[in-house]
Amino acid sequence: MDDKNPNVSGVPLKYTANATSPKKPQRRVTKMSRRRYRKDYGAVIALVLLFAVVITFSVILIIRNEKKAPDAPETETGIVTESGAESESETESESDAPETKDESIRREAAEYVDLTEADVHDGDLILVNHNYAYVFPTEDVLLQMKPRAEHFLVSTLDTSLRSAALDAFVSLTNDLYDATGVGEVLVVSSFRGEEKQREIYQDRVDRYGPEYAAAYVANPGYSEHHTGLAMDLTVYTDGASYDIETYGRTEWFMQNYDRYGYVLRYPEDKADITLINYEGWHYRYVGLPHSLIMDSLDFCLEEYIEDFLPNHTIDSAVCYNGATGEIKYVDALSYEKSADESLVYYVKSEGGKTSVPIAATPYEISGDNVAGFVVTIK
Ligand SMILES: [Zn+2]
Repeated sequence: MDDKNPNVSGVPLKYTANATSPKKPQRRVTKMSRRRYRKDYGAVIALVLLFAVVITFSVILIIRNEKKAPDAPETETGIVTESGAESESETESESDAPETKDESIRREAAEYVDLTEADVHDGDLILVNHNYAYVFPTEDVLLQMKPRAEHFLVSTLDTSLRSAALDAFVSLTNDLYDATGVGEVLVVSSFRGEEKQREIYQDRVDRYGPEYAAAYVANPGYSEHHTGLAMDLTVYTDGASYDIETYGRTEWFMQNYDRYGYVLRYPEDKADITLINYEGWHYRYVGLPHSLIMDSLDFCLEEYIEDFLPNHTIDSAVCYNGATGEIKYVDALSYEKSADESLVYYVKSEGGKTSVPIAATPYEISGDNVAGFVVTIK
């Protein structure tokens, strides 16, 4: 709108200057003959006509400018077209204005999801370790694995997992079987309650001593096995058990488990962070694309949840391309992701109630069991 004002004030200034010129004929008339006076008089008429034409043009220009003025200034017009039809009501146009201040087009979050402090402790990405105890849910979230054991084995009938972890494991073992013919992966242990964990811990203390127990077994309440997202695996064939990571025919499994949302939870080179010695048998479901991002960036779950994700809020979301493996960082509210890309961002819990902004759908939200939530846009 500021562009319009100089034009409006500029035209009257020109008009004032023209209005002073009729003084000229007066000066001429005083000493001149009638003929000459007539001649001058004719010139004055010509000048007045010329001025009239100039004034008419000026008036037309003013009218045109005023008609143009309701259109937004040029820079805004380009962005406003994004919002669609010209016939939008004024209130809608005004509400668009604050979002389009920047060069980039930043959307409002499509929706907000209100979560509570209890939600921080639930979901596929919860970190359960020596620092963060598992908060047992009030409702049953576990499914028995046996009925779906097509191409794997279970040690007991009540071996159980959460549904997303079980779905992924069924796909993983079916594809392992199709690729290699191996159908003997044995789930030695999956969900364990607090009492069972206490028995195991005491058993290891009794058999190997307290140092061994502390190095390999989590304290009751602090075990990933409470979550229903973790499993200990071996290969059981011809009456003998084999380590899954060294058994000759499970190379495909070792190369592909992260494509199904699983991570090797206690890698050898991360023992100083996890405070659990290397466990080649313990796999944890975190979901996609998290397992692939962790693999690409060589993070254990502590590094991913405590150090990495809190730096990637909605304005610097992790963008993972499942086709190329490329990772970049984007503003989730302005970025138009492709079908191959997933976005991941962190929202800190505000305690009590937290309104979590959703940049796009479909989405999943998990608590981290530390201090916030992780939103995944797939
Ligand atoms: Zn385990």
